[in-house]
Amino acid sequence: MSSVLIVVEHNKQKLKMATLKALTFARQAAKKLNTQLNLLVIGHEVEAVAKQLQPYGANTIYLVEDPAYKNYTAETWGHVTAEVAKQCDAVLIGINTGTTGRDLMPRVAAKLNAGMVTDLIDFDGDLFVREMWAGNARAFIEVTTPITVASIQGTAFGVAEPGGTESSITRLEIPVPKTKTRFLEIRETKSDRPDPTEARVVVSGGRGMKGPENFKLIEDLTDLFNGAVGASRAAVDSGWISNDLQVGQTGKTVAPDLYIAAGISGAIQHLAGMKNSKVIVAINKDEEAPIFQVSDYGLVADLFKVVPELTEALRKEI
Ligand SMILES: Cc1cc2nc3c(=O)[nH]c(=O)nc-3n(C[C@H](O)[C@H](O)[C@H](O)COP(=O)(O)OP(=O)(O)OC[C@H]3O[C@@H](n4cnc5c(N)ncnc54)[C@H](O)[C@@H]3O)c2cc1C
Repeated sequence: MSSVLIVVEHNKQKLKMATLKALTFARQAAKKLNTQLNLLVIGHEVEAVAKQLQPYGANTIYLVEDPAYKNYTAETWGHVTAEVAKQCDAVLIGINTGTTGRDLMPRVAAKLNAGMVTDLIDFDGDLFVREMWAGNARAFIEVTTPITVASIQGTAFGVAEPGGTESSITRLEIPVPKTKTRFLEIRETKSDRPDPTEARVVVSGGRGMKGPENFKLIEDLTDLFNGAVGASRAAVDSGWISNDLQVGQTGKTVAPDLYIAAGISGAIQHLAGMKNSKVIVAINKDEEAPIFQVSDYGLVADLFKVVPELTEALRKEI
């Protein structure tokens, strides 16, 4: 029977939340296409990750393990994904949109001679929908190849809850391919805070922060919620904060329960990365700032006065 196949993202021990959003999409798609739903875990000694997925009702969780697959490269994981897709007769292969998705899926599409849809936000069983121009237009896409490869805009889908019968885990041996690239090392930014894409609360600062030292105000507020720090591109380009915290069209797409934007004007490229947040709070001294058009709560005020006040007030409450 044909299937929808989702490539699982993990940090070698734990699932990434993005996968559970891709899973929500995949459940809907499998129903519409009347196919099975399968998951693919690639890595080395990652059975624990596969086990975390067992309560989510997929038909099969394919587990492909080898020391050569321990660290992601597009060449090795792309090879494995395409091979498993063939074995489970996948007609739709997906992963969350993100750095890995953007890197991996075009290669998988090429290997399977499949049409590709990026950043999809909906699928009616026939047409795929994606947003364009920073969310100001929608494209309806028909894929004419038998197989479709997709990156899924996770922020458009909720986090899947466990449900359905427990999935079986099937180990597959996929011989390691000869590659032209090899993994050398990974240099990770160490932080006690969650990544903006994983956090329930994101507090972002923009050019209005006026300098790197003032991001301490953002961090103090963030830490009350065990949240993530985010930033506009203007703050990142000024070198005030690390670029892996940039939110927006060319940064990360987030949809936390609460997004607080301080000193951010609300350019469409920033909105593209956060407008699906459940509750948006904007702090800006300019009442005409476009960020107020998407915010649920707007504070026209000097952030240097109100952010510390807010932090103090919340500290007493939490
Ligand atoms: C192709 C492309 C891709 C892009 N990708 C992204 C992206 O991924 N993410 C992104 O963010 N941008 C992106 N941009 C840039 C985007 O267009 C804006 O330039 C950027 O978002 C502006 O950042 P900002 O809001 O921090 O700065 P500004 O637009 O300069 O706004 C600063 C705001 O701070 C307010 N302010 C100043 N002082 C205070 C104070 N004391 N208290 C309260 N408020 C204050 C001001 O009123 C103003 O509204 C992209 C642009 C292009 C062309």
